Amino acid sequence: PLSLLQDPSLLQTDALINGQWETAASRFAVHDPATGQHLADVANLSVAQAQQAIDAANAAWPAWRNLTGKQRHALLLRWFQLLTQHQEDLARIMTAEQGKPLAETRGEVAYGASFVEWYAEEAKRGNGETLPQFDNNRRLLVIKQPIGVCAAITPWNFPLAMITRKVAPALAAGCTVVIKPAELTPLTALAVAELAQRAGIPAGVVNVLTADSEQSIAIGKLLCESDIVRHLSFTGSTEVGRILMAQCAPTVKKLALELGGNAPFIVFDDADIDSAVEGAIASKYRNAGQTCVCANRLYVQDSVYDAFVEKFAARVAAFKVGNGFEDGVVQGPLIEPAALDKVQSHVDDAVAKGGKVLTGGQRLHGQFFAPTVIAEATADMKVAREETFGPLAPVFRFHTEAEAIAAANATEFGLASYFYSRDVGRIFRVGEALEYGMVGINVGIIATEHVPFGGVKQSGLGREGSRHGMDEYLEIKYLCVGDI
Ligand code: ADP
Repeated sequence: PLSLLQDPSLLQTDALINGQWETAASRFAVHDPATGQHLADVANLSVAQAQQAIDAANAAWPAWRNLTGKQRHALLLRWFQLLTQHQEDLARIMTAEQGKPLAETRGEVAYGASFVEWYAEEAKRGNGETLPQFDNNRRLLVIKQPIGVCAAITPWNFPLAMITRKVAPALAAGCTVVIKPAELTPLTALAVAELAQRAGIPAGVVNVLTADSEQSIAIGKLLCESDIVRHLSFTGSTEVGRILMAQCAPTVKKLALELGGNAPFIVFDDADIDSAVEGAIASKYRNAGQTCVCANRLYVQDSVYDAFVEKFAARVAAFKVGNGFEDGVVQGPLIEPAALDKVQSHVDDAVAKGGKVLTGGQRLHGQFFAPTVIAEATADMKVAREETFGPLAPVFRFHTEAEAIAAANATEFGLASYFYSRDVGRIFRVGEALEYGMVGINVGIIATEHVPFGGVKQSGLGREGSRHGMDEYLEIKYLCVGDI
């Protein structure tokens, strides 16, 4: 699939340190999850090389910080234009290494690029404040300054957008970055970095450290423990987030964490059922269920339960599953064999506890899992508590609004939630009662660049996107001027 790139030089396999492509003593293989085909061998960096990248980012910082917001705006805008111009090649690289269908990877390039455009604009708006004086002999000012060298550790499920969502606001704010992309999807990250280079972003401002899973742990430790690195932004599992948070404690590093979710999707009896079916499909099966905001638990009110489940299962049973490069495919492979084991274990557990498989329920060939719907799901099943991260929709039955809210909130996670209702009172009651950072109401897809994306409880810290996303990378400084 990669021999068909319009611009083959986007396919980089070395790491980017201080504007140079750096090789390493060893390399690690990247595979296509749809076919198992070997795609590339990528530089597996040492900890010493990671330290060089941190030092390069630190050396590049003063000049980058001293550009005006408008100068950084121009460079980011150029990067945005290049990402957009190379949408098709970036989408192909991403489908090859990640598996999701081309329609979705094209969408991710547009979504990922939109953060670069948005923060190019925000680069001009690092506004401070003037405050009324408490003494006429003084003047009080608040300015915002870039925090410094930032580290970004990113996952494989959105190989492009999770990078730009962190890096664009950091650069806009005047910070430099060291990125450690997921070992399963480094090629997209390197192509994005190649375009940052072409945009004229100076050497050392954007560095990319590629590493296999073992070296990722060692490099992650270095990024956390470094006192040059002032901010760590991580998107991934709650389990790894806890490790990174503990590792960051000795240097009291500022943290942004986008961790796991266990999204409820509630359908009330006053909902538009056809619309709820479409929303549930979009939310649940996007990226084969491998997103942290995917509906993980569907709760449907008793009186509309049978009607919803019948329409929903019929739509899911008709999905075309296959290689993401084929026309009409809506569900690609799962990322790795362990992901299939997890989905299967959730199916088996649900069936053992009385769940009814309406469609799917088993592996297909290779790393493909049949899109699955399980009816009569109950609170004692694994699917009620754990994030499946795969194409399995368990449908729970409920009777009252209070019961649905209690079930939806009965989790340590609090990222995205969804509900369908046409009753305006219920929309406000339930919207306010859900203990989540994001609530989709009569809609299954909610992310876009100018809204604050993030979770409460053990789903994370901080927000990405919107003006709040740039505040992560800015420190507030208070200036008190006396003797006026
Ligand atoms: P996922 O659940 O998305 O596979 P992980 O949380 O395992 O996510 O991984 C997300 C990112 O975190 C990847 O870039 C991975 O290399 C990195 N990572 C995993 N474990 C560690 C660790 N102990 N220290 C630092 N980085 C890690």
